[in-house]
Amino acid sequence: MAKIGINLQKGKIDNQNDHEVIIGIDLGTTNSLVAYIDHCSNSPVCISNEGSKNLVPSVVHFGENGEIIIGEAAKKMLEINPSRTIFSAKRLMGKSYNDISHYSDFFSYNIIDDNTESLVKVNIDQKFYTPIELSSFILKELKHIAEIKLGKSITKVVITVPAYFNDSQRQATKDAGKLAGLDVLRIVNEPTAASLAYGIGLSPDEEKTIAVYDLGGGTFDISILSIQQGVFEVLATNGNTFLGGDDIDKVITEHWKSKYAIEINDQHSQQTIRLLAEQCKKLLSSNDNFEATFQTKTVALTRAEFDQLIAPIIAETISCCEKALKDANVQIGQIDEVLMVGGSTRTPAIKEAVGKFFNKTVNDQLNPDEVVALGAAVQANILAGNQKDILLLDITPLSLGIETMGGLMDVIIPRNSKIPIRAGRSYTTSKDGQTQLKISVYQGERDLIKDNRKLAEFILAGIPSMPAGLPKVEIQFLINADGILTVKAKELRSGVESSIEVKPQYGLSDSDVERMLLESLEHAKEDMHIRALTESVTEAKQMIEVTEKFLATHHVLLNETEIEATKAKIESLRKELTNTDRHIIQQSIEDLNQFTRPFAERVMDWAIGESMRGKKISD
Ligand code: ADP
Ligand code: MG
Repeated sequence: MAKIGINLQKGKIDNQNDHEVIIGIDLGTTNSLVAYIDHCSNSPVCISNEGSKNLVPSVVHFGENGEIIIGEAAKKMLEINPSRTIFSAKRLMGKSYNDISHYSDFFSYNIIDDNTESLVKVNIDQKFYTPIELSSFILKELKHIAEIKLGKSITKVVITVPAYFNDSQRQATKDAGKLAGLDVLRIVNEPTAASLAYGIGLSPDEEKTIAVYDLGGGTFDISILSIQQGVFEVLATNGNTFLGGDDIDKVITEHWKSKYAIEINDQHSQQTIRLLAEQCKKLLSSNDNFEATFQTKTVALTRAEFDQLIAPIIAETISCCEKALKDANVQIGQIDEVLMVGGSTRTPAIKEAVGKFFNKTVNDQLNPDEVVALGAAVQANILAGNQKDILLLDITPLSLGIETMGGLMDVIIPRNSKIPIRAGRSYTTSKDGQTQLKISVYQGERDLIKDNRKLAEFILAGIPSMPAGLPKVEIQFLINADGILTVKAKELRSGVESSIEVKPQYGLSDSDVERMLLESLEHAKEDMHIRALTESVTEAKQMIEVTEKFLATHHVLLNETEIEATKAKIESLRKELTNTDRHIIQQSIEDLNQFTRPFAERVMDWAIGESMRGKKISD
């Protein structure tokens, strides 16, 4: 049945089916949700699964008979059949086995360690599933839930990702959408979505700095956003990808085990006590005491005991908040709003601690489970053309550039640039008659490409044969609003062009990004030295090549002694190519340069003379 509503502002009848519905999806590590804008109330609402809960656990179970079960039913199978039940697939998005090998014990299912460079796969029976496929099963389920509720087919969506997700993780999320039969119009940062759900940033003249504290099931993220004229900019993110509600459950379980001398010998009791701990935690969000029976024993916990148990976890999140503020270069007093996101922020002690740290009452008006999905729906509505003038901005976590002569990194988009962004630079060939140019794209902060991470490589072919240095190749980097990079190369004289969309083979983890940044600082001095030396060697090589070419074409303008002396100077410069003191190389270059300068002038005079001879003087 089609819904009909009256738009009170416009005074006309709105037919729900007349609107193109774009849904918003929060594809979470623990739980996922789908939301849309209800055009009767003009506000975002989460869609529930046939009368049950809005939350769809992000769990995929592969049945023995080939059936694929998603959500609540799959979550139940975690206890019964853990090896065929996949949880936390989001942690694997855009990752290689190398990226996750140090925490592979975390997963109770079989992660394939075949080729360390390519994307991870999960093995069930004879089949191998990528995290993209696994996520697509969850997305398909959400699409299905929305289609049942709205009574029509849905194809367009907005999906949220953590603000720290890199290129390949964002791309993997988009691909998962595509695989689920969805057209992913935009990938939005989770904290940005949370902000939109609270209506912050929707009016063009609004200027705010906000903190989004997101404590979910297994991850913690703190983001500092600056919002100006409808532009959302992530100033900094921090957090811990292995800290969340699960850890709180674990602390309670351990406490009970030691307090009541409980022995756990099998996986089933382990799961049962874990679920009991989760129940206890949730109850203590609104009650002062919890009591239940486990096996034959009574297990209990008071709110005060609970608060004490989780104090270290809270402290860790607060220290992340400190770091994020520092990185964002923002003082606590400058934060206008603190938004609470994620199921675990229901715990009163957490709200209290966060409020105390930011010296502000936290904003927890909206359901913390739903906030991100609601915001995704708001963004979807903006994209549907129902709300104009809103832009989303992000920052690049690492510098992007290309390889230049001598294996140097030439940065085109520096780290921390706001995206979307377009930047370019001109390059030329190093050899005469060179008809193609290899463009290698790198990510990282080091001066030498060998220390950075290669993202892609492509060849610009078909450059007409010209002397070295004459072709003008413009290389352009474009990062779109989803954080996906396209590199274009065009030879301006001939118009030949080529481009590539950069889809890295596998992603970088936060710790990789951090490590790369730390290394770049550590090696800054040494890198600078190597860069300077490499530049001098490259310059020397070019000088030799140019001078030799000069001798070959213009020897008639030089006498024998001059030719011999020039050759000798070329040779002595050639000897210095292996020198590690760039000053000596530079001196030798200068020496050759000084010596040949008068010859170059001679050539100029000669060339002018020639051209004058060609001209007719009229009388
Ligand atoms: P994610 O973003 O990782 O998918 P969610 O935001 O859905 O996760 O949060 C899930 C976590 O929230 C779980 O650890 C769950 O136990 C916890 N949680 C849910 N309700 C409550 C509550 N009332 N009190 C405390 N924790 C809760
Ligand atoms: Mg979440």
